Amino acid sequence: MRVYNFSAGPAVLPVEVLEQARDEMLDWRGTGMSVMEMSHRGKAFVSIAEQAEADLRELLRVPNNYKVLFMQGGATAQFAAVPMNLAGPDDVIDFVNTGSWSKKAIGEAKRFAKVHVAADAGEPYTSIPPVETWQLSPNAAYLHYTPNETIGGVEFHFVPDVKATLVADMSSTFLSRPIDVSKFGVIYAGAQKNLGPSGLTVVIVREDLLGKARPGTPTVLDYAAVAKDGSMLNTPPTYAWYIAGLVLQWIKRKGGLEAMAKLNQAKAEKLYAAIDSSSFYRNPVAKEARSWMNVPFTLAKPELDKTFIEEAKKAGLVTLEGHRSVGGMRASIYNAMPMEGVDALVSFMKEFERKHG
Ligand code: PMP
Repeated sequence: MRVYNFSAGPAVLPVEVLEQARDEMLDWRGTGMSVMEMSHRGKAFVSIAEQAEADLRELLRVPNNYKVLFMQGGATAQFAAVPMNLAGPDDVIDFVNTGSWSKKAIGEAKRFAKVHVAADAGEPYTSIPPVETWQLSPNAAYLHYTPNETIGGVEFHFVPDVKATLVADMSSTFLSRPIDVSKFGVIYAGAQKNLGPSGLTVVIVREDLLGKARPGTPTVLDYAAVAKDGSMLNTPPTYAWYIAGLVLQWIKRKGGLEAMAKLNQAKAEKLYAAIDSSSFYRNPVAKEARSWMNVPFTLAKPELDKTFIEEAKKAGLVTLEGHRSVGGMRASIYNAMPMEGVDALVSFMKEFERKHG
């Protein structure tokens, strides 16, 4: 039986995609083999890879002067790859710190360049500092921010208007809505939320930023080298790339990113409305910064957390535990979570409050 899986990632995938993968598992379109077994340089896989890139470009309307790279190492590798490719050791990088993932990116960047935290939301990281208050460096190599903090549930519902080259860790908001790629120098995202299985990382980089990697940058992290070989300078995560391709086609069938955004907003509003209408549940995030993707909430009686998780599981609602660093609950409601899943969660919450509130 399929459950409603509220995991933050690896996360729920569309059932149709899993069914298609199952149907194509043993014999991909007459090749007599699984995609997993194919050479990444063979005609069959190259067609899969190219189609996925074309679909991604179409969905995000990626301008022609941007490369789309299919890399490995997760967003965590990009925490290092971005400074290695875009900054020298003496350059300053500006950061906006809105929570756990911003901090990780900052920590890693400090190993490679001078880091200046231009804005810091401060504990408990439930808001976004107003852009007018950001203390931007005059000559920053770039400004890095985290459009969606997966743990804190804090999301930018706007793209900051700054002069510096903008770099965004879009891991947990990628493909959840349309974005204007031309506003960014680099966008990166681990696949395992809205795109597909873990193991694949997408990087979208403006071409004029290529070819500036510092000496010593590992070849697999050098954007220019990866771009030159069409993301195949070594063996890419072929199966993850294939599944990502199926997910992209699924998004297209569903009406593209405009349709995703509409549904995601409706799902999120329904869940926040349920939380706000009760004194039993609470979400601490400033209203204008509440994430459409990750909805953390706490119970008025934290001693009931375990019971909540157990009873939810019995009702087919799983992986609702908050991140181990914060506790409480968190419902991640990515593209592939249907409205029915949110409805089931809201009904369960009402019933749980009635019983235990
Ligand atoms: N950034 C964000 C916003 C994330 O949500 C995550 C993973 N949850 C990461 C970075 C780290 O990604 P990875 O595990 O792919 O390295």
